[in-house]
Amino acid sequence: LVRLRGRLARSNSAVGKGLLSLLSRDKLDEATWEEVEDLLLTSDIGVAPTQELVERLRTRVRILGSRTPEDLRDLLREELLTLIGPDTDRTVHSLRADGAGPAVVMVVGVNGVGKTTTTGKLARVLVADGRSVVLGAADTFRAAAADQLQTWGERVGASTVRGPEGADPASVAFDAVKQAKDQGVDTALIDTAGRLHTKVGLMDELGKVKRVVEKHGPVDEVLLVLDATTGQNGMVQARVFREVVDITGIVLTKLDGTAKGGIVVAVQRELGVPVKLVGLGEGADDLAPFEPAAFVDALVG
Ligand code: GDP
Repeated sequence: LVRLRGRLARSNSAVGKGLLSLLSRDKLDEATWEEVEDLLLTSDIGVAPTQELVERLRTRVRILGSRTPEDLRDLLREELLTLIGPDTDRTVHSLRADGAGPAVVMVVGVNGVGKTTTTGKLARVLVADGRSVVLGAADTFRAAAADQLQTWGERVGASTVRGPEGADPASVAFDAVKQAKDQGVDTALIDTAGRLHTKVGLMDELGKVKRVVEKHGPVDEVLLVLDATTGQNGMVQARVFREVVDITGIVLTKLDGTAKGGIVVAVQRELGVPVKLVGLGEGADDLAPFEPAAFVDALVG
């Protein structure tokens, strides 16, 4: 928790502080509520959630007897938490419950969002947890991408399956899962190509990777990686990916940067799937499970 608070961009706690200060004004008139609304909108949570939250805050503040800073903080914390969904299951399914074959996790997203880094960090977490991992470099368009993944593999103790540059991504993914299966490995993490948003063919390619991998058995998790600093742009990407694959979880990277935390609410709403992991830096240990309570505490302080 301390770590999350320390790492979240300052802009996040600024929103929480701003809200608290507005809500503690002597007179909460229309102009003040508009300021509350504006502040929420600048935090990237999106229009509908902002309106919903403002309505709820208005009602609750009205029935609140006193407005001590503690009361307001508790109220804000509670309402933000409700919006994020405190009881949502955020498990990353990286181990097959039935023990039959490896769990297969596909990592998807556009170039530059932190896909390969996230795949490497996730492998690190799993290996540290005593799991064996095979990495599949299904981004065959860029040799550098496969090199980067392989470097992560060597660093964390996972073997990497890759093909020649330009190889069929689906066949590399298939081989990776096959190797995991043959060697009794727990989890296969498949890093996919990310130039997908611009080319219909490449989007189809992603669907193909999934179908081909499914010849071995079900894909347990499809993680969509989004760069939290890109705001509404990330939302556009999310919509495109949702059309070709069933996303089961979101990874929000670069929350340590100038990101606005409100994007957590916006993407969950948009996709109807939970944020499961957050990236808090470029290092191997900078991937954390998304914990709504800690996150809200970091926002509100
Ligand atoms: P990909 O093209 O989606 O595979 O993206 P990469 O994994 O190559 O990452 C792109 C850049 O973002 C690299 O410089 C990473 O070190 C950086 N990066 C990834 N995740 C994070 C994060 O959580 N925080 C920060 N600050 N940088 C990150």
